[in-house]
Amino acid sequence: MLRDSFGRVATDLRVSLTDKCNLRCTYCMPPEGLDWLPNAQLLTADEIVRLVTIGVERLGITEVRYTGGEPLIRRELVDIVARTTALSPRPQVSLTTNGIGLARLAGPLAAAGLDRVNVSLDTLDPGTFKRLAHRDRYADVIAGLAAASDAGLRPVKVNSVLMRGLNDHEAVPLLRWCLEQGYELRFIEQMPLDAQHGWTREGMVTADEILERLSAAFDLTADDREERGSAPAERFLVDGGPARVGVIGSVTRPFCGSCDRVRLTADGQVRNCLFATEESDLKTAMRDGASDEELAARWIAAVARKRAGHGIDDPSFLQPSRPMSAIGG
Ligand code: SAM
Repeated sequence: MLRDSFGRVATDLRVSLTDKCNLRCTYCMPPEGLDWLPNAQLLTADEIVRLVTIGVERLGITEVRYTGGEPLIRRELVDIVARTTALSPRPQVSLTTNGIGLARLAGPLAAAGLDRVNVSLDTLDPGTFKRLAHRDRYADVIAGLAAASDAGLRPVKVNSVLMRGLNDHEAVPLLRWCLEQGYELRFIEQMPLDAQHGWTREGMVTADEILERLSAAFDLTADDREERGSAPAERFLVDGGPARVGVIGSVTRPFCGSCDRVRLTADGQVRNCLFATEESDLKTAMRDGASDEELAARWIAAVARKRAGHGIDDPSFLQPSRPMSAIGG
């Protein structure tokens, strides 16, 4: 098992398939993009599946979420998903995506066994979308969402980050629209993980503010049907339910104490936390001929070193050198 020194057990593996993205969301990276990892440094599909297999078969991973960068631009995605859902014991397999290309891929992904999808959408206004993501792709995302629902990848979840002065007036319209479409909306507090290091605490729209705005239009009650457990989102029934909305207060309401996540970057580094400042290099070990046992031992040691919390509030907090897009959100 992947147990850390505080007794937490990592069962949820986030795998970044590429650091590249076809959007340039302001809270993530600059408009000109970043220096992408050279192809030779990216794990191949076989290497990804080998590490995921070790995680599932030897280390107790029960959930695998593919992310990025943008996972839909990884050509072998459907094959990787099919090989993951064929593992035994079969893990839950999900995808976090910006939805561009999902209109074409939702059917093949569902056929490959994908269980769920989270699509990021921060605005319902195409002009604001272009300002926020620096690309005119709003219609593609909306089409991708519809295709995911049609392909049976339900419940389709929508992730939204609100930014002050840009889209923070859209909390209520976003929830109303998601309710109409049958999507489950989750707001995520903006975290200090942008490549530009432009995050400020004052600029961040907090979970409290989001809930205040939603409460002006909807009756929200804590959803006690399910324990929050290790789930990052605090969930609320909307107008008595059954529809729900989630708020992920990563900064102001951290859930590190029950975190069950571990991450694998597109270049094969294990990260025991989004905010970790050290990584464990499985790619080099694998390419140098390490056995599955050796790789598993490195992975176990990397998780054992996990810190108690992300420490954003510590005066000594240092933003990780890798941005979110290179870690895998
Ligand atoms: N490209 C995919 C997508 O857009 O969902 C997957 C990767 S993206 C890094 C994963 C999630 O992280 C998205 O929902 C995005 O909004 C969120 N994200 C990126 N940077 C963030 C930040 N600084 N704070 C909070 N969430 C962030």
